[in-house]
Amino acid sequence: MTETTPFFEQVNLNFDRAARLTPHHPGLLEQIKICNSVYHITFPLEKDDGTIETIHAWRAEHSHHKLPTKGGIRYSMLVNEDEVMALAALMTYKCAIVDVPFGGAKGGIKIAKWKYSTEELERITRRFTYEMVMKNFIGPGVDVPAPDYGTGAREMAWMFGTYNALASEKLEVMACVTGKPISQGGIRGRKEATGRGVYFGIREACGLAKDMKPLGLSSGLEGKSVVVQGLGNVGYHVAKFMQESGAVICGLAEYEGATYNPKGLDLESVMEHRRENGSILDYPGATNIEPSSRALELPCDILIPAALENQITHENAPRIQAKIIGEAANGPTTPAAHDILKEKGAMIIPDSFLNAGGVTVSYFEWLKNLSHVRFGRLEKRFEESSNQNMLNAIEKITGKAFPEKEVSRLSRGAGELDLVNSGLEDTMIDAYHEIREIHKQHGKDVDLRIASFISAINKIARSYLELGIFP
Ligand code: NAD
Repeated sequence: MTETTPFFEQVNLNFDRAARLTPHHPGLLEQIKICNSVYHITFPLEKDDGTIETIHAWRAEHSHHKLPTKGGIRYSMLVNEDEVMALAALMTYKCAIVDVPFGGAKGGIKIAKWKYSTEELERITRRFTYEMVMKNFIGPGVDVPAPDYGTGAREMAWMFGTYNALASEKLEVMACVTGKPISQGGIRGRKEATGRGVYFGIREACGLAKDMKPLGLSSGLEGKSVVVQGLGNVGYHVAKFMQESGAVICGLAEYEGATYNPKGLDLESVMEHRRENGSILDYPGATNIEPSSRALELPCDILIPAALENQITHENAPRIQAKIIGEAANGPTTPAAHDILKEKGAMIIPDSFLNAGGVTVSYFEWLKNLSHVRFGRLEKRFEESSNQNMLNAIEKITGKAFPEKEVSRLSRGAGELDLVNSGLEDTMIDAYHEIREIHKQHGKDVDLRIASFISAINKIARSYLELGIFP
């Protein structure tokens, strides 16, 4: 295994390490591991200046053990067949870990987004969607894309619009893609869901004093120093929730460089500085870190890579000082780097669990789109009056009135955002304890990454075994 080992092979190495510890038939394990289908699409783009360029794009559906398959669409120059297969496989395992009933998929378009006008990006996105419709690689019950690196609600709205224009199954059409704007059938809380899920996962891990002790850390997030790499959708939101919980954000890295202040950086102010100056560098009162990758080596309690894969390698792993690595990005740590960090005694909270908040809330959005009703719409008012009745009864019995501020807080019924956030929190907490339990049962050789793969393999195997296909 070298650092140039293809990404899909790296994912499969972790799969194999876990599979050895499960009781399943080799044929079944092979079926779970392989990537079921990959579609390589090429199409011409007419640019604004009239020139023609060939665009390459892929969609991989790793596993059809549950339908639809689900996974993001990324825009990056690193996209290739190997990358989408690896990311689709991670999606399969991620969905199983958090009990989201989907197979894994991933798509990507090989473009440097900043080189194209908005109109060109729209044409690329719509043509890509059209090609996927033609080959049955998208649909509410078939394969449901979502945002990923370089894409967001705007691209999902374009995909939805294109699918909507072509689809025959009109009633379910909104569920063909998730991460849409609210006005287009999106759900409150989806944009920040991945970052919020990462925060819940790290908070849960840090909340267990007996797990923190061997790392030389106290329990809780308060005062823990944090470095975040990548300030896009995921990285920005993790940093925000960590800061709000009392952690000290001491380092923030973007591709042009990083800024460091051991006393703490104010996230919003750094973001503002970057917007105004076009760079994170030269933030007042902080130290410039260049090249940006050196930020990963800064002294801190928690390091959160939230940019791209293969950031922590055998080359820089020996210099990493963080005691906890919270993998917000997909595949940020190579297997060789993982072994070095493990040897150093670091806790690695793996991507396949930690960044599952996005797909969890995408699942909620998909359910909302199929049911055509906003979460909380039916019960909110009823809940409020039940709570109010309860408060009235308590006041009558005790003869004491609740302060007005408390009445509105205690009687409030749950709206869509409350339900989404609480469903997400519950999912992340349950899944963390499930993988931690497997890790504890097997002893220290089975770290959280291998434990998360064991959890996923067992759940996927069960769905094949119940079909009676494998012995
Ligand atoms: P994004 O495009 O919104 O943000 C990525 C950020 O990383 C950008 O600001 C980019 O400039 C920065 N970046 C790129 N290379 C960098 C480098 N070498 N050093 C520092 N910064 C760098 O993407 P995102 O949606 O936040 O996704 C980030 C990661 O999280 C990806 O691995 C993605 O697969 C994963 N992820 C995303 C979601 C989601 O819901 N968006 C869900 C699960 C996992």
